Amino acid sequence: MFAKVAFPISGFKTFSYIIPKNLKENIQVGTRVEVPFGKRIVKGIVTELQLSVSFKGHLKEIASIVDDLSIMTPELWSLIKWISTYYLTPIGKVAKAVFPKTLSTRYKPPICWYVKVVENYDKKNLILLKKRAPKQYTVFNHLINNNIIIKVGDLSKYCSSPMAICKSLEKIGLVKLIEKTLLPDATGFIFDPIHKDVIFNEKQKNVLKSIIKSIDKNKFESFLLHGVTGSGKTEIYIDAVRHCLLSGKTAIILLPEISLTPQIAGRFKSVFGDQIALWHSKLTQSQRSWTWTQICKGSFKVVIGARSAIFSPLKNLGLIVIDEEQESSFRQDSPEPRYHARDVALVRGTFEKSIVVLASATPSLESYYNYKQNKLKYLHLPERFGVAEYPTVHLVDMLSEQKESGKYGQVISGLLQDKIEDRLSKNEQIILLHNRRGYSPVIRCSDCGEILNCHQCNVALTYHQKNLQLLCHYCGHKESSLDKCCSECKSTNLLYKGTGTQKVEHLIKDTFGDVRIARLDMDTSKTGLGITSILKSFAKGDIDILLGTQMIAKGLDFPNTTLVGIINADLGLYIPDFRSGERIFQLIYQASGRAGRKDKKGEVVIQTYAPDNPVINNASELDVLKYYNIILQEREELNYPPYSWLAKIEITGASRDSVNNQANTILDNFENRYGGLEILGPVPCYLERVKNRYRYQIVLKSLKKIDINGKLLHSFIEENMERFNKNFPSRQNRINIHFDPLSLI
Ligand code: ADP
Ligand code: ZN
Ligand code: ZN
Repeated sequence: MFAKVAFPISGFKTFSYIIPKNLKENIQVGTRVEVPFGKRIVKGIVTELQLSVSFKGHLKEIASIVDDLSIMTPELWSLIKWISTYYLTPIGKVAKAVFPKTLSTRYKPPICWYVKVVENYDKKNLILLKKRAPKQYTVFNHLINNNIIIKVGDLSKYCSSPMAICKSLEKIGLVKLIEKTLLPDATGFIFDPIHKDVIFNEKQKNVLKSIIKSIDKNKFESFLLHGVTGSGKTEIYIDAVRHCLLSGKTAIILLPEISLTPQIAGRFKSVFGDQIALWHSKLTQSQRSWTWTQICKGSFKVVIGARSAIFSPLKNLGLIVIDEEQESSFRQDSPEPRYHARDVALVRGTFEKSIVVLASATPSLESYYNYKQNKLKYLHLPERFGVAEYPTVHLVDMLSEQKESGKYGQVISGLLQDKIEDRLSKNEQIILLHNRRGYSPVIRCSDCGEILNCHQCNVALTYHQKNLQLLCHYCGHKESSLDKCCSECKSTNLLYKGTGTQKVEHLIKDTFGDVRIARLDMDTSKTGLGITSILKSFAKGDIDILLGTQMIAKGLDFPNTTLVGIINADLGLYIPDFRSGERIFQLIYQASGRAGRKDKKGEVVIQTYAPDNPVINNASELDVLKYYNIILQEREELNYPPYSWLAKIEITGASRDSVNNQANTILDNFENRYGGLEILGPVPCYLERVKNRYRYQIVLKSLKKIDINGKLLHSFIEENMERFNKNFPSRQNRINIHFDPLSLI
């Protein structure tokens, strides 16, 4: 027997190996193996078993099998093949993204001991105890009075060696010690469990009924759950998962960035406890291996995590939920495969015969369109749960504010200032959104007007107050702001323009004196732990104002937050990308959704210099469908998705001329163009140079009316690029192909 093996390399070629007798039983399609390759032993994946091979040279033997348990299911294998074909990525590379490097690990999660009082314990023992062992008696008394399961370590307030005391108490039959494995959630993402009595209202019940009915059918179905923020979507996922578990099925919940949504993860954890695995980028390599192995073995029934959780090897999958399905973090752009977890989820759903729920208050235009085309079933929750109402929105025109007050470049308008004061005096909390980090995002020479750019990228440097540094937010380049001068005229008269979160924080402190403010952006929260601890303080009421970038716009549920301020709603509005409007609309809408989530009515203040811009305007009316219908019309006129299939061929390299030439050669050599295909470019990207590499792109749009399932565009690119790579191989430049890219900058 022979096996074809694929490696994580750029080519699509596979290599044949002999399967030695001792491995025959255990090698199947999808098995990871180690094989000699040149002078090295490398890892690859078996893509095909063969009875004979046509290769005439010397065949080598497979050396060993990588994993000691079966990691592949037929459904997962089909998914890997689909990703490889759809995103034009060699199977070896796809497998590398899907599986942890190795499954063998010595990692074992730590153990924690809990203690609880035994039911019907013998009261006689207690009387004896009081006389003979007063310490044990005190501890026992504490346990019985509070009637709880408690961590043994937490008893150290009452005695110096709680474990010994608990063991003695266990011996005389008063308590029971319980061993619990501390699962790797690594960063304390978990909020303390809150138990809620959930009684669904009629609308929620109907949505849930449709989902549960569909789960029971054992076939693929897909839904768009469009529910306003606070309508109870999360409670519905929880109940749907409960139903899956009761019927012996498993579930995957995808969240945009799990470290930003500790509350949601916490809510799941409090209901399902140790049946849940958290899967996210902050896990260490060994925690990954351990978690993956446990999923394969069936110890976890639910996986909740960021985009790559879509590859979890759960068996008998009943439900996949993608929460905030419009979020761009579900897309991976680098490294390959450049996939979208939402689309992968839909395909996995068809292989697994499970249902897929795309959920959001602001669906992506694609999903909205797919619902209009009857490709997704629509479930709607148009109201918030309970008495919570939607917030009142005030739109502040900063230009007229500027004229009236005579103050230029004002960051906080009079109205927002009044509202903040009002809420502070009522001991209510405030969330301020400003989607730009740093102190000043632009530094301009006051003599010649030049803007200071990063030397590796054509991107303006941002001034950060901490360490007085200038930072490039694209490549991470840092330099001191001291002795900095203009690169053109060497003048040291530099103006620090614009506003980042650090400056807003500074101004708030200046204006409101001893207000307790916390800032949440990439600079204050490098770890999940940092984020959770800030959010926990806010939840406890130790913080009055939470200021942050888009990190604070979603998933948070703090009932005492009654005011949301959007400092500059226009940020990003003028970026030349067909999705910039949609993104800003969603951000404003999501952020507004943080206000007034319980019995206290909320308010939102949106500050803008463009109050008539349709994006800002419609966002301030919180009118999703109205805006979506406008923007769909625009997209249709310009042949953008969802009316066309989009692909981007990106060429990067160190020399601008060479990149430009290559891009033009690609264009000149396109063959077999078809009606319905529109080709734009090549043009330099909006970010023309990043990390010293020049970037050019060719954009292809293929009209859905003609190219119904995108196959024409796929074949066009595949055939042309294959021929191009053969005829014009280049070592200098890199060519990246993006199917369904989210952005064109
Ligand atoms: P969404 O995910 O749509 O933003 P949530 O599920 O977070 O909404 O619901 C908002 C708040 O209302 C949460 O605190 C949630 O626990 C509560 N809630 C929603 N539905 C119910 C219900 N049927 N019974 C009790 N509380 C509910
Ligand atoms: Zn200058
Ligand atoms: Zn840079």
